Amino acid sequence: MTLFDSPDFEAHEGVHAFYDERSGLKCVIAVHSTARGPAAGGCRMWPYPSAEAAEGDALRLSRAMSYKNAMADLDLGGGKAVIIGDARTQKTPALFAAFGRAVDALGGRYWTAEDVGVSPADLTHARETTRFVAGLEGHPAASGDPSPVTAEGVFRGLRLCVRRALGRDLDGVRVAVQGVGHVGGRLAEKLAAAGARLTITDVNPEVLRAVAERTGATAVAPGAIFDAEAEVFAPCALGGAINAETLPRLRARVIAGAANNQLADSATGRAVFARGILYAPDYVLNGGGIINVAGEIRALELGEAFDPDWVDGKLERLIQTLEEVLDRAQAERRPTNELANEIARARITLAAEKRQAA
Ligand code: NAD
Repeated sequence: MTLFDSPDFEAHEGVHAFYDERSGLKCVIAVHSTARGPAAGGCRMWPYPSAEAAEGDALRLSRAMSYKNAMADLDLGGGKAVIIGDARTQKTPALFAAFGRAVDALGGRYWTAEDVGVSPADLTHARETTRFVAGLEGHPAASGDPSPVTAEGVFRGLRLCVRRALGRDLDGVRVAVQGVGHVGGRLAEKLAAAGARLTITDVNPEVLRAVAERTGATAVAPGAIFDAEAEVFAPCALGGAINAETLPRLRARVIAGAANNQLADSATGRAVFARGILYAPDYVLNGGGIINVAGEIRALELGEAFDPDWVDGKLERLIQTLEEVLDRAQAERRPTNELANEIARARITLAAEKRQAA
């Protein structure tokens, strides 16, 4: 199969492969769409078994960023970079400087940031060779850790879903949180403060104990979270939490969490819908993280300091978008994840048409 026939290609504007002999950099930067603005998405470093595997991941992730940025109503398109290599043993300043040159070669069509395997310290070296980097620390435009903003967006969206599905506020509602790390831990604190009754889990026993102590939550073993008596299930660990094995065990009426790719596949999305569970599409609900990064890009472009009020306005708008998804899903009796994709595609197409007409 060639690149253009690949199911993941889906009208990418550009797929760029870069090689730097001296540093050993091998990377792919996929730019899905710049219709809404420069493509933005993190850089992942992973020991892909082949260039094809790296390219496939870059394509899927960059398209996902187009959708996420559109649903967050950002003036940003979608892109993603992947560096082929082992993040534990193959990182060097020269590698990230070469990566910065690759980003710079795209002339601002792609803004990079951190993702799996890439830290702010690594990006400091990329910043030496390109200005199109967000996620650095220690400057007035810096956005810092996105997790608190992600957690706030998830909290507001989860509260909306509870009102819609259960017709009540969070006080006394039972919520099961899977994964209480950077986002899940903060979400648990917000939920506890709102009077929710929590069951939580994590594969890291220390993190689990600390969050349980802070929130008064009941801690359970990782495998038991799917059987918790709870009205809400909040997946905040890794992808694929909702699948053919776990879905029948859930008692929840709402699924709303921070993790990316919560549904194992599209059949699972339809099964969730068939069970009458209100599912908050993951990439809409967790859009706070990219909104935070967008706040940094905006500040850098304007030469201003980071503006938390702008970020909060975008978070509010994100919840309005979630409401639009829920309204349409209810009116058309269709799964929320399908509606979210449709709305995202329509927003991107509209922007492309406006650009062509201009
Ligand atoms: P994190 O690594 O800080 O937290 C994840 C937690 O899940 C960890 O404590 C880990 O021990 C736990 N975990 C892993 N596997 C588990 C399992 N099988 N059962 C129970 N616990 C398990 O990550 P995070 O930054 O909190 O992100 C959580 C999720 O949200 C990820 O899927 C991430 O991609 C997504 N997300 C995060 C942000 C952000 O701003 N951090 C933004 C958008 C999406």
